[in-house]
Amino acid sequence: MTVRVRFAPSPTGEPHIGNVRTVVFNWLFARKMGGRFILRIEDTDRTRYQPESIPIIMEGLRWLGLDWDEGPGLEELRRSGVENAEAYGVGGPHGPYVQSERLERYREVAEELVERGWAYRCNCSPERLERVRRMQRARKLPVMYDRHCRDLPPGAVSPDEPHVIRLKVPLTGQTVVHDVIKGDVVYDNAGIDDQVLLKSDGFPTYHLAVVVDDHDMRITHIIRADHWIPSTPKHILMYEALGWDIPTYCHVPLVLGEDGKPLAKRHGATSVTQFRDQGYLPEALFNFLALLGWAPGEGEEQEIFGREELIERFDLFRVNRAPATFSYSKLDWMNGVYIRGLSQDDLLERLIPVWQRAGLVPDPCPEDMRATLRRVVPLVQERLKRLTDVVDLTEFFFSEIEPPSAVLLMQKGLDAGQSLEVLRRARYVLTQVEDFSEERVEGVLRGLVEEMGLKNRQVFGVIRVATTGKKVSPPLFGTLSILGRQRVLARLEAAEAVLGVSSKS
Ligand code: GLU
Ligand code: ZN
Repeated sequence: MTVRVRFAPSPTGEPHIGNVRTVVFNWLFARKMGGRFILRIEDTDRTRYQPESIPIIMEGLRWLGLDWDEGPGLEELRRSGVENAEAYGVGGPHGPYVQSERLERYREVAEELVERGWAYRCNCSPERLERVRRMQRARKLPVMYDRHCRDLPPGAVSPDEPHVIRLKVPLTGQTVVHDVIKGDVVYDNAGIDDQVLLKSDGFPTYHLAVVVDDHDMRITHIIRADHWIPSTPKHILMYEALGWDIPTYCHVPLVLGEDGKPLAKRHGATSVTQFRDQGYLPEALFNFLALLGWAPGEGEEQEIFGREELIERFDLFRVNRAPATFSYSKLDWMNGVYIRGLSQDDLLERLIPVWQRAGLVPDPCPEDMRATLRRVVPLVQERLKRLTDVVDLTEFFFSEIEPPSAVLLMQKGLDAGQSLEVLRRARYVLTQVEDFSEERVEGVLRGLVEEMGLKNRQVFGVIRVATTGKKVSPPLFGTLSILGRQRVLARLEAAEAVLGVSSKS
């Protein structure tokens, strides 16, 4: 049996990162088992439908390297209004993979369930249903359909009048969900609602569509979020009614924030697009998500795993039963590790768009500028947790800086006069120095420290603030060398003017 798994997003906005973690599990399992990973768009909830989210979802998957083997084809995507359909359409033998294109099929199955005595037509008015609900609430009864139309004589509700089709859930007995992660979860049938399967507008509900599609698309393992488990007994009843094989269920626990509450916007980024824009590397986020609720071994200390290694070691049966905690600081740490592991050329290519988005570098990046940027990369590589950190860290390379305040310029143990003296002498030696290579600059400035009998951090501190405007910067000598003689001397002079005024006052 070939393993076939799916990701079945509803296009109602950007997928939540917790959902994407579940996609990572699906993908890893498919790749490990030599199976197929299928993308299906569940767009039957027309009130929440946002077609723009389809390409966003696909772009997010692609960015993370979660390629799908079957999914909406070119024409399906075009009909869904996806502009760049050529980029994403793959198709496959079990399509269409967009649910709104499968309405006929859902109706057919719903009718089959009616014929087999497993479903029935219901023409209760919304007002009646609302009355029933109100009464149930008032009496503190479970809120569910009162089965009013369940035992009407055949033909009492005509197929031609507006009606819904409901599942005829047995009134006794139990339905058991065998779940890979949770074990057996038992539901009393008496507590299961006679779920609407087909709505009066001809659209299926999620429950009908998901069962039909998972069957038609030969899905073998349903790996999805925890909160779908109460729906699963309804699905199992349908599989049984239709005589279809029941797939293996695997309900994955939620992702929580560090306060133990479901991960939400107030915790930080929650969509793939946000993580990308905040400067996370896809390979780092992928590694991080794979370890969110799963670990390759008991007490395993290693946390950095390449894609191939994760595929090899992934084990669906070892997914945690407890909810996973999303630690942004751990992700930052991991991202930093990945950034440090990049080649300088690779990092340069990833930083250029970040600088461009910040308006520091023109698009396209001119060649001579690229050469300068290439020299900046080794200075910042060790210091970045996110790619976007580079903006703050390097802004002073691209634009003029405001002369820093005297307070910022003065270093511990130096007054304004002494700080001014440092700057004057630094300007002198840097005017004299033969060339502005990192080595030469370092040589003369270290000489200056010695000559003045001060500490490294005092002398270098004043010069750093004067030339970068910041207390923390990339390594000083490399920075000065890239800034170049002219700009360095001008910035020193501007800072001298600031200190000159305050040393007199
Ligand atoms: N369309 C459902 C969702 O938005 C899919 C649930 C499932 O995987 O069965 O999450
Ligand atoms: Zn009814």
